[in-house]
Amino acid sequence: MDRSTRPGDDFSKYANGKWDQETAIPPDRAAWGIGAILDEQARERTRMLLDGARSQSTAGSDQRKAADYYAAYMNEAAVEARGLATLQPMLDRMAAIADRGALARELGSMLRADVDPLNATEFHTDRLFGLWTAQDLNEPSRNTAYLLQGGLAMPDREYYLADNPKMAETRTRYRAHVVKVLGLAGIADADRKAQRIVDLETRIASVHARREDSADVHTAQAWTREDFDRKAPGLDWAGYFGAAGLERQRAFVVWHPAATTGEAALVGSQPIATWKDYLAYITIDHWSRLLPRAFAEERFDFFGRTLAGTPQMPERWKRAVDSTNAAVGDVVGKLYVAKYFSAAAKARAQAMVADIKTAFARRIDALDWMSPQTKARATEKVQSLIVGVGYPDAWRGYAGLEISGDDALGNAMRAEEFEYQYRLRELRQPIDRNEWWITPQTVNALNLPIQNALNFPAAILQPPYFDPAAPDAHNYGAIGAIIGHEISHSFDDQGSQFDAAGKLTNWWTPADFEHFKSASARLVAQYNAYKPLPDLAVNGQQTLSENIADLAGLAAAYDAFRISLKGGTAPAFDGFTGDQQFFIGFAQSWRDKYREPILRQILLTDGHAPSPYRADTVRNLDPWYAAFDVRSGDRLYLARPDRVRIW
Ligand SMILES: [Zn+2]
Repeated sequence: MDRSTRPGDDFSKYANGKWDQETAIPPDRAAWGIGAILDEQARERTRMLLDGARSQSTAGSDQRKAADYYAAYMNEAAVEARGLATLQPMLDRMAAIADRGALARELGSMLRADVDPLNATEFHTDRLFGLWTAQDLNEPSRNTAYLLQGGLAMPDREYYLADNPKMAETRTRYRAHVVKVLGLAGIADADRKAQRIVDLETRIASVHARREDSADVHTAQAWTREDFDRKAPGLDWAGYFGAAGLERQRAFVVWHPAATTGEAALVGSQPIATWKDYLAYITIDHWSRLLPRAFAEERFDFFGRTLAGTPQMPERWKRAVDSTNAAVGDVVGKLYVAKYFSAAAKARAQAMVADIKTAFARRIDALDWMSPQTKARATEKVQSLIVGVGYPDAWRGYAGLEISGDDALGNAMRAEEFEYQYRLRELRQPIDRNEWWITPQTVNALNLPIQNALNFPAAILQPPYFDPAAPDAHNYGAIGAIIGHEISHSFDDQGSQFDAAGKLTNWWTPADFEHFKSASARLVAQYNAYKPLPDLAVNGQQTLSENIADLAGLAAAYDAFRISLKGGTAPAFDGFTGDQQFFIGFAQSWRDKYREPILRQILLTDGHAPSPYRADTVRNLDPWYAAFDVRSGDRLYLARPDRVRIW
């Protein structure tokens, strides 16, 4: 803490100032804080589990597959010896493309379920489109195929289009990166080809939806298979979907209709030769982490050093753990929770979730602006939330996935294909609202608005977020606010549009929705005023869902904390009252620091505001003013009417 800072002037600095001053970001990290520290701990634990799994498992078992996957990744000599050999058949096929029919088939064969499932609106794929399979938002009784925009190597359209010197410089360096990748692969005429590839990507970027528009579920459209031919000419969709294994799929949700039309038109209008060069580049770049060192280093140099500001590539074993988690995450997860997540921890976390659900329902009931009809629907929604704590009830198996002990790239490609086939089968299976979308060893939590479900993995349910040895006040402020945050996503600008069954429905009375919108607008303005970089502010609209969740989650956690006291007083700790401990616990859970380039990337692409501003959410809660004697004139002070209260 920095007790010389007035809490009312900069609460984040008051709670975290000394840490911030004394902590250096490790050289292999772009940002550093509580989440990253726990993430490193989870990696260490996973490495030990994988080392042990090798000797303790039988040949052909899932555990052995995980151990072999990790070992193959670590076998750098084998990776060097293979060179581009594993990719060569694919590159040869791309080089042989002679017409737009073959181009469509190649693009279709590359479709993967590689959209970041944490949030359907916060995703990125360098394939032309991304696929996500989930409950249909119009017909929640069935699963459907969501198609999302893609095709860019850099994180967002702004990197290709934004008109400012910083981005122009990044583009110059990106073009040099493309030249280097082509050169390393022995592709002739790299300079001219790189220019054409970047030009094509820039055209793709120009048809992409903006980040904040992507968050509006109402722009998504239900398309039949026939709609693609009519609404998005240029791409041979029959060839595309055939090669993607989706020839039988009749119904789709197209998340970015205009981008789908625009990308298909580019497939029809841009020279085939340019597409072939682009495909070769994007394929090599996509897999370069599993190619010989020169490729992996070049990728890190641009995406790690230039785009994120990270000086040093993480050690190989860390990358191997991450890759193993991505490939066979449930095998690792099962080992992880057996060792690191006790039944007692699970029970205590479940009890906290129940408390906060109750507090949330009471808050809704007490709202003076909301009509009884809307309240009834909201309460139904909280009560029917499915809350997963620690790990899923059922584990995924990996029968049929072939893992070799010395082919790291082949393993990763087969694992991606295996995952894709799993998702295709899921399209024909009944919906599963208990399905988990992150592994237990992930330090994160999430809300799945369409499933009306939450996932709280084991790896986040540990100190300092959740510390069985700490006072309750601390735990309610830290993990309690995170639990409240995830519950609240069911009621933010996204979740408020889905009913209890996950159907996209307007369950609000018009007057209630107007109130919600005006409160949201004040929160947008509050965050728009934060300016972390001289030329870049927080985007209040882009971060609205998360800011609502932070605010509502903190308020619900505070109520749950008060309820837990049953009218009594929380014990003082270290000279702090219960309320002070609660708010400090909250602000310390957002203890993070960033290098400038990653901060820039977050401001442009992330749905979350940078952590210090998340810590300052406290300024909207009346009890915070009382706890720290915050007064008019303090920098974070808001007059009562300016404090935003949504739920
Ligand atoms: Zn969130």
